[in-house]
Amino acid sequence: MTAHYITGLDIGGTKIAATLAGRDGLLQRQTQPTVLSGTEQALPQQCIAMIDAMCAAAGVPPAQVCAVGIGSTGPFVQRDGLLALASPNLCGRQSGASDLPNDWDAVPLQQMLLSRFEQVVMCNDAVAALNAERFFGAVQTEDHCAYVTWSTGIGFGLCVDGRILHGKHGNAGHAGHMLMTDASDARCGCGNRGDVESLVSGRNLARRHGRDTAALFAAARARSPEEYALVAEAARWLGRALYNVTAMLDTRTFVIGGGIWQHHGDWLRPLLLQELAGRLPALTAEVRLIDAELGSLVGDIGALCQVMPTEWVTHWRATRPWES
Ligand SMILES: [Zn+2]
Repeated sequence: MTAHYITGLDIGGTKIAATLAGRDGLLQRQTQPTVLSGTEQALPQQCIAMIDAMCAAAGVPPAQVCAVGIGSTGPFVQRDGLLALASPNLCGRQSGASDLPNDWDAVPLQQMLLSRFEQVVMCNDAVAALNAERFFGAVQTEDHCAYVTWSTGIGFGLCVDGRILHGKHGNAGHAGHMLMTDASDARCGCGNRGDVESLVSGRNLARRHGRDTAALFAAARARSPEEYALVAEAARWLGRALYNVTAMLDTRTFVIGGGIWQHHGDWLRPLLLQELAGRLPALTAEVRLIDAELGSLVGDIGALCQVMPTEWVTHWRATRPWES
C-alpha cells in the first residue's frame, strides 16, 4: 500500500486535535472541543467530520487518506474485536465523578473509523507521545525508557528492550492509576483514592487546594510554605512511582513532558530524583530524567507516528518538517 496521506487524532477529555500529513510534512491542523453529548457515535462522527474538513481545506480527496493514527485518553475496552474508548474522562458510565453529560459505556471509535478508512491504529495518548519521542525526539537510541506526562493528568508509556508495551487491550502504561496509599482522601477521576494521579495530577492538586493549577505551582516555586509542601509531596509520590516502574522494568531513562513539567521541571526534578537515589542501586544508579523534545506537538506527532510509513520516518528525521 502506498500512503498518499495520513491523519492523526489526539483525543482528550476537553479537546480533539486532528492533523493531516503527507510525505513532506504537516498539511493541516484543527482543534475542537470534544463532543461529549449525544449517542456513543457522536465522538467518532466528530472525528470523521474533522478529517473531512481538513481534506477540504487542503484540497486532498478524502479517499486518498489511507490511515488514521489515534492517541487518546484511555483506558480502552474491546467491542467485537476492536478497541473502544472507555475513558472516565469521556464516558458517563465509566466516570467516578459522573459530571459528564452522557451515559456512554464505550465509544466504538476504531469500528466507526474503519468504516471509512483502511487502517486505524489507536493507543493511549502517553504511549503515542512515547512513540513520538522514540521516532523523532529525546529517546531515539534508548531502548529502556518510559514517557511520563505531568499535566492536568498523569500518563505513562513504557518501552522495554526497544519494544513499546501495549497489553491485552492497549492499556499497558496506566501506571497513573497505581495505588500508592490508603491514607489519603485524594480522589482520581477513575474512582480510585490514593492512586498516583489522585495525588499528583495538576487537576487533582488544584481541586484539593481550592485554586487554579498555574497559581498553585507558581506559589510553590516561590516557596510559599503551604503550596510548596503540597507540591513537594506530590513530586515525592511521582518519584516513588518512577522507582516502582524501574523496579518492574529496569528502566534507564524517563522522558518527561506535560505542561507542569515544561514550566516547573527545573525545580521539581531533584525532588523526584530523591525518591530514586539510594534505593536498590543496582537498579537505580543509571536512571536519568530528561525533558521531552517535541513539546506541544508531541500529541499530534505521536498520533501520526503509529501509521507513518517507514520511508516517511527516515525522510522526516532528515528534514524535521514539524519545526517549520
Ligand atoms: Zn486513577
